Amino acid sequence: MAETVFAKILRKEIDARIVHEDDQCVAFHDINPQAPVHVLIIPRKELLNVNEMADEDEQLIGHLFKVARDLASTLDLTERGYRLVINNGDHAGQTVAHLHVHLLGGRRMTWPPG
Ligand code: AMP
Repeated sequence: MAETVFAKILRKEIDARIVHEDDQCVAFHDINPQAPVHVLIIPRKELLNVNEMADEDEQLIGHLFKVARDLASTLDLTERGYRLVINNGDHAGQTVAHLHVHLLGGRRMTWPPG
């Protein structure tokens, strides 16, 4: 798989504003925030996107959502709500080829998405 900026963040070769890390994932503030809170949660495992998810990754993907839930609480988003987004592939607008969950909050969102 081609090297991504997220691989460099995982190896601490470039800086990121990390808000959580554990043995399975890292979460950090998006460099170009689309909401007052915009955090990315990424697995340490190099997965392109959901298409590449193996059956054995079920627990890992669930872990990303558990971390999102806990970060939403830490960042005071739980009561008012927040949006979790995975851009999966070209039509969805995925620009970084490493699976990531966007945690967006702190403002009212619109629907449908662009
Ligand atoms: P996506 O368009 O779903 O692939 O999202 C990729 C996200 O990564 C975008 O929201 C970018 O702003 C964000 N991003 C790209 N480079 C960095 C970086 N070095 N640090 C933090 N976020 C980044």
